[in-house]
Amino acid sequence: MEQPKRRIALLGSTGSIGTQTLDVIERLEKVGRRFDVIGLATGSNVDLLVEQAERHRPRAVSVASEDAVGEVRRRLPDVEVHHGPEGLLYLSERDDVDVLVNAVYGAAGLPPTLAALALGKTVGLANKESLVIGGDSIQDLLASHGGGLLSIDSEHHALHQCLHGHGPDDIERLILTASGGPFLHADPESLASVTPEDALEHPTWAMGRRITIDSATMVNKAFEVVVAHHLYGVEYDRIDVVIHPDSYVHSLVEFKEGSIKAELGPRDMRIPIQNLLIDPERVDTGLPRLRFDEPLQLNLLPFEESRFPAYSAVLAAAREGGSALAAINAADEVLVYRFLDREIWFPHIAAGLAAVLARWRAEKKGEPRDRSPELPWLLEVDRWARDEARRLTFESDS
Ligand code: NDP
Ligand code: MG
Repeated sequence: MEQPKRRIALLGSTGSIGTQTLDVIERLEKVGRRFDVIGLATGSNVDLLVEQAERHRPRAVSVASEDAVGEVRRRLPDVEVHHGPEGLLYLSERDDVDVLVNAVYGAAGLPPTLAALALGKTVGLANKESLVIGGDSIQDLLASHGGGLLSIDSEHHALHQCLHGHGPDDIERLILTASGGPFLHADPESLASVTPEDALEHPTWAMGRRITIDSATMVNKAFEVVVAHHLYGVEYDRIDVVIHPDSYVHSLVEFKEGSIKAELGPRDMRIPIQNLLIDPERVDTGLPRLRFDEPLQLNLLPFEESRFPAYSAVLAAAREGGSALAAINAADEVLVYRFLDREIWFPHIAAGLAAVLARWRAEKKGEPRDRSPELPWLLEVDRWARDEARRLTFESDS
C-alpha cells in the first residue's frame, strides 16, 4: 500500500538540526516513506537555502531579513519568498502543512509553535525555548485544539521511549543525562579566564553556537528539565540530572517500585528526528549504531549543582512561573553573545542571569496570575530582559 505523504514546514533548515532533518527525510524517502517539504525557513544562509530548495522543491521559503528577499526571488523564481517573523508564521499556518519542524534557536521560535498548535497541527520541537518561555500557553493550546507535540532532543526522545506504555502514576522520577560540557572537571577559579573557543569545544555533540555555550553553563540542561516538566507533568522536585560524559545513555526513568529504564544509542540527533517524523513506526535508514565490540562503561556521576550556578538561576526562574523564564531565556541569549564577543567573561553569564532574575522579581513579579501569560506580554518581558542584560556591568575580576 502506498504510504501517505507527510507535509512538512521546516524552520531553521540551514542549522544543525535543520540540515540533519533534511538528511533524514532523504533517507526515509529511499525506503519508501513519502514527504512533501512545503516550506523552508532560514536566517541569512541564502546559498544553503537555495541548494536545499533545489533538492526539496518547497512551495515557499522565508529568510530573516527583507534585504535577502530580492536575491532569493531571483535564484528561486518558482518559489514564494517571505521574510521576518511573519514569514515564519506564514509557513507554520499554511493549510497544506501537517507537521511543523521548528529548529530555529531562541525566542523567535515561540510564535510559530503557538500558531501551528492553535491550528491543531503537529509540532516537532527542537526549539526548546518555545516550551521554556511559553510552556503554560502551549499546554492550554494542546488541551483546547488537539494538536500534537514531540520534542526533538535526545533526552526527551529517550524519556518518550522509556515512558511508552506507562501512566503518570507509574513514575517516581525522570533522570536526564548531561555530558557535563567542556568544564566538568575544571577548577571553578580557572573558569574566569576561559575563552569562547574553549567553551565552544563540546566534548561529545556538534551543535549550534548558543546551545554549545548553554551546554557549558548547563543552562541547556536546565531548559531540558523545564521541557520535561511540561511534556510529562512531573514536578521539578522529581526531575534529576546525572552526569554521563560518554553521552550514549540519553536519559532514564525511575518507576515507583524502583526499577529504572534507560534509552541508549549513538550520539546522533538523526535518530530522534527520524522517530519524530514517522512516529511510532521504526525503519532502518542506515544510521550509525552502538556496537558492543568494545567494552562500554556505564559511567554515571552525581551532578554537583553548586558548580553550575547558571543551572540554579534557570530552575529558580522556573519555580517562579509566569514570565520569569521568558526573562531568563532572553537574558541568556544576550549574555551568551556578549561572552562570544569577548565583552564579558564566562562566569558573568551565570551572574547576569541571577541579576536579571532579581530585577524581574523586583519589577515584574506582580504580573496578573489568573491565566497563562499571553504572547504579547511574554515578548514585552523578553525585550525588557534583553535591555537589562545588555546594560549589565560586571566586576572585571570575577
Ligand atoms: P543552529 O544555530 O545550528 O541553527 C539555527 C537555525 O535557525 C539556522 O537555520 C538559522 O539560519 C536559523 N535562524 C536563526 N535565526 C532565525 C530567524 N530569525 N528566522 C529564521 N531562521 C533563523 O542551531 P541548532 O540547530 O543547534 O539549534 C536549533 C534549536 O534546536 C535550538 O533551540 C536548540 O536548543 C535545539 N536543539 C539543538 C540540538 C543540536 O544537537 N543541535 C539538540 C537539541 C535541541 P542561518 O543558518 O541562516 O543562521
Ligand atoms: Mg539535549
